[in-house]
Amino acid sequence: MILVDVYTQHPILGNQTLTYSHSSFLKRGIRCWVELVNKKIVGFVARSYEGEVDFDVKPIVSIIDQSPILNEELHQLAIQMSYQTLSPIIRCFQAILPNQLRPKSNHKTIQTIDYVRVKDKTLYQTKRQRQVLEDLSQYDSFNYSSALKKYKSVLKNLIDNGAIERFSKVKEYVEKDIDVQSQNHRLTKSQQQALDAVILNESKTYLLFGATGSGKTEVYLQLASKVLQNKKQVLILVPEISLTPQMIERFQLRFGQDIGIYHSGLNDQEKYEQYLRVKNNEVSIVVGTRSCSFLPFDNLGLIVMDEEHDPSFKQESVPFYHALDVCLWRSQYHNCPLMLGSATPSLESYAKAYKGVYKLLTLPKRINDNLPEITIVDTSKNLRKLEYEVLSQELKKAIEETLARKEQIILLLNRRSYSPIVQCENCLEVLMCPDCDTALSYHKDNHLYQCHTCGYQQQDDSCPKCHHRASLRKGLGTQRLEEIVSQQFPHAKVSRMDADTTRLKNAHFKILDDFTAHRTDILIGTQMIAKGLDIPNVTLVAILKADSALYHEDFSSSEQAFSLILQASGRAGRHDKQGHVIIQSFSSDHYALQYALYQNYLGFFNQEMKYRQSGQYPPYVYMSEILFSHTNKDKALEVADLFGVEYRKNNTLKVLGPVAIRKLAKIERVRIVVKSKNFEQMIQVLTTIHSLKENKLKGVKVVYNVKPLHLTT
Ligand code: ADP
Ligand code: ZN
Repeated sequence: MILVDVYTQHPILGNQTLTYSHSSFLKRGIRCWVELVNKKIVGFVARSYEGEVDFDVKPIVSIIDQSPILNEELHQLAIQMSYQTLSPIIRCFQAILPNQLRPKSNHKTIQTIDYVRVKDKTLYQTKRQRQVLEDLSQYDSFNYSSALKKYKSVLKNLIDNGAIERFSKVKEYVEKDIDVQSQNHRLTKSQQQALDAVILNESKTYLLFGATGSGKTEVYLQLASKVLQNKKQVLILVPEISLTPQMIERFQLRFGQDIGIYHSGLNDQEKYEQYLRVKNNEVSIVVGTRSCSFLPFDNLGLIVMDEEHDPSFKQESVPFYHALDVCLWRSQYHNCPLMLGSATPSLESYAKAYKGVYKLLTLPKRINDNLPEITIVDTSKNLRKLEYEVLSQELKKAIEETLARKEQIILLLNRRSYSPIVQCENCLEVLMCPDCDTALSYHKDNHLYQCHTCGYQQQDDSCPKCHHRASLRKGLGTQRLEEIVSQQFPHAKVSRMDADTTRLKNAHFKILDDFTAHRTDILIGTQMIAKGLDIPNVTLVAILKADSALYHEDFSSSEQAFSLILQASGRAGRHDKQGHVIIQSFSSDHYALQYALYQNYLGFFNQEMKYRQSGQYPPYVYMSEILFSHTNKDKALEVADLFGVEYRKNNTLKVLGPVAIRKLAKIERVRIVVKSKNFEQMIQVLTTIHSLKENKLKGVKVVYNVKPLHLTT
């Protein structure tokens, strides 16, 4: 009997396979329909072999794919990822595959187009039919619906009598013509040194460290050009969708190619089309965000990860993978260089470069040799005044002057909504989400009180405690900032970019287009506008509540604040005009702000490393977060305790918790953090203890976040 082991998505099974029988051997990576407790579900073939078993095996219901949908490389990658992130392998397959091909979904979602072609030219009965056959035989295939419009029932008759065949093909991307419009710049000495240092055809990681505007992208472009000459492929990863258009454009115009793109702004069908272009070897350069690291390249010659410090490279759900780990793995598999670029490298990457694990390449100066001037305005003094000013006098003056020079302004406030806190006017009770331990934010555009954690919203603002029906809206969100700025500068055109204004497809591009073309003067937004924008006319950047990241008291909050400020500052004065940056903050003497003020990455790095060492935080140790969740807090705590006791038996681990953290969408959560000096050992201990206690979970869900960028609160 031929037996087939398949992975299925089943919460309890994890990486255990189920066994079915089939009439022939199946290659691994083929999807099939199988039956499990009277339900038809999609399975993913792990192996098939000749054998006998002493239990009843059901046959596979049907086969979905003719050939494996994951190649050997990506299959191996999934196994590795499953091991390193402690997540079920099927979840890794899902992360790797485009939505249209995911093991859980039905493959019928893939869009196809119908065509016709002539099968037998002699099968006609009328003159008209003969004419139609004559017409169509000039084409290999002809679009069915156009043919139907043209030939109507004649076509149908010809299909019925077998003269013409109707068939469908997967909808494919139609390539655009793009001309080369930009030339290589003559490299500066340090750019040239960086370019020359990179060895092609060798797996090695480089860290290109240079301020924004120091010419990193030019180095990527010229490196890519060398790789393309060797007929190999180039993968460029960028953090978020707002950044992709600029990078895409620079690569298109330099190489005169309709390059591959892959980001969250594409719908499933568009992503699938791009996936096919890579799979069929129709593109040699792809620019995209995190999930683009999984595209099925077969001959990679270079991987670039721009803004490598950016948190969007880590997926914050199962499997909690980091694109950097995927890239390191693929760089080894393809024997090609991996280049990380940043003005504010993650502590971990810079520490690796410092130790020589990565090769450090430095671009010490901006191309225009002109760093922005940074000023800190201490708003804690403002607090004592009666009227709390959202915009300080210094900032107001700077905005006025910038507008007068017809230059543009970016205002960064990392908080969407109108007011993030709503309090009862009578008893000062804070309005909370009924399902989460999260305060509701007031959104003025639709007059709703929303939970930013779970999406819950309500219209009513009466107090749950004293039933008084009037509330105070406190704090500052981007909507309110937009209102204030519009009132104070009535002649300026103001736009806002945050998760609320960019919900619709292509909304990002519209807002950025308007700003780039100077149809708007002031762009207000959350951290999504802090990165990458390269707009020559922007000369003033202000960061409001710059220290808000520091309130989280997480091991990485200083790093996040420092990097956000420097990234945002990098938007000002990128070309020949002098840039100014104003930071409004309550805690202006915090070292993260002070080093940002002097744009001193190394100073910050040294001080922050001391803190990480004394607190035994990454990069000095490896850390994992284990979350136990259930609707009942006691149950979650009970299972967490069980795991905690086991972890503590192992003296290579340092264990913190269990501790109950914020409830999320009615689910209670309990967290344990473990630290270890040895990564492999940590993974092994966690895996062993998981399998030991797996049958004691009693409905409690356990999720691992290995190497978290910050702790879940
Ligand atoms: P980064 O990626 O570090 O922010 P870019 O590569 O975008 O820097 O360079 C900043 C600006 O300087 C861009 O407008 C770019 O075209 C220009 N530039 C880069 N390298 C050179 C060079 N060697 N000579 C002249 N201009 C350059
Ligand atoms: Zn909620």
